[in-house]
Amino acid sequence: MAPDALDVNVHPTKAEVRFREQSLVHEVVRRAFIEALGRSGAPQLQLAPEHAAAGAWTDAPRAAPIPGILAGGVYPNRWTPFDSRREGTLAQGGAVVAGPIDIKPMIPLGQFRDTFIIAVDDEGIAIIDQHVAHERVLFERVMERLTTGALESQRLLVPLVLDVAPSAQQALAARAGELARFGFEVAPFGELTIRVDAVPALLDAQDCARALLALAEDLEGLDRGAQVQDALQRIAATTACHAAVKANYPLTYEKMAHILAELRATAYSTVCPHGRPVMLRLTRREIEKNFDRI
Ligand SMILES: [Zn+2]
Repeated sequence: MAPDALDVNVHPTKAEVRFREQSLVHEVVRRAFIEALGRSGAPQLQLAPEHAAAGAWTDAPRAAPIPGILAGGVYPNRWTPFDSRREGTLAQGGAVVAGPIDIKPMIPLGQFRDTFIIAVDDEGIAIIDQHVAHERVLFERVMERLTTGALESQRLLVPLVLDVAPSAQQALAARAGELARFGFEVAPFGELTIRVDAVPALLDAQDCARALLALAEDLEGLDRGAQVQDALQRIAATTACHAAVKANYPLTYEKMAHILAELRATAYSTVCPHGRPVMLRLTRREIEKNFDRI
């Protein structure tokens, strides 16, 4: 594959890259599969309703206290009957098609070393890197938001004045227009400083200075003639990285559940999974096999 068919600027530390023509690559792989599987095309995915009597259970409580180590809180009941929406939607022609909604929500159990979320569902146990997962989710959300407008901005009560190298000052000033779409309001201020009047609402105040210095470094590495889209992706990746929860950071149950729900809604449903691993999964089969249950 030609080097320029890859976009290496989607992650600040290059932990992941993207195909420039993602859908083209996807289509090539899909066709190769169809070819290999026979000329007739891939079989249709058929899903039977998972819970025949789902209707009878709709009045059951959606949350229940769980005894033992989790006592004291009310958590979603993992035995909650399946939501009828998850039984697949009827596509044209009558075939039942699995959508992203078919992935059952995972229930967070807690954190390992304040860095990984441990979660379960009926099909296994997952260990999720909280920073990478949140960063991925925020990146997708930010890029999605940019297609319809600008990000929400918060005005700083006291403008932030940052000391920067001349090259960094130039890089930030040259991309002030792109930065403004993210909610950053930056302007040169004196010779070796920049003045920041507003920042994206999703950034915590204490993360702003570091995020801007990282952005300056990122944008300095970008060619003057680089496409606006490249600059936007780079800014989105760095902003997401600095806005995401950090490793070694304790999370509440609600925050863990939020990250898992968002992950389910965005990255899970991505056709081509890419880049740095978000999740390590132990399947039910692996677990049962290791305990000689199957
Ligand atoms: Zn990061």
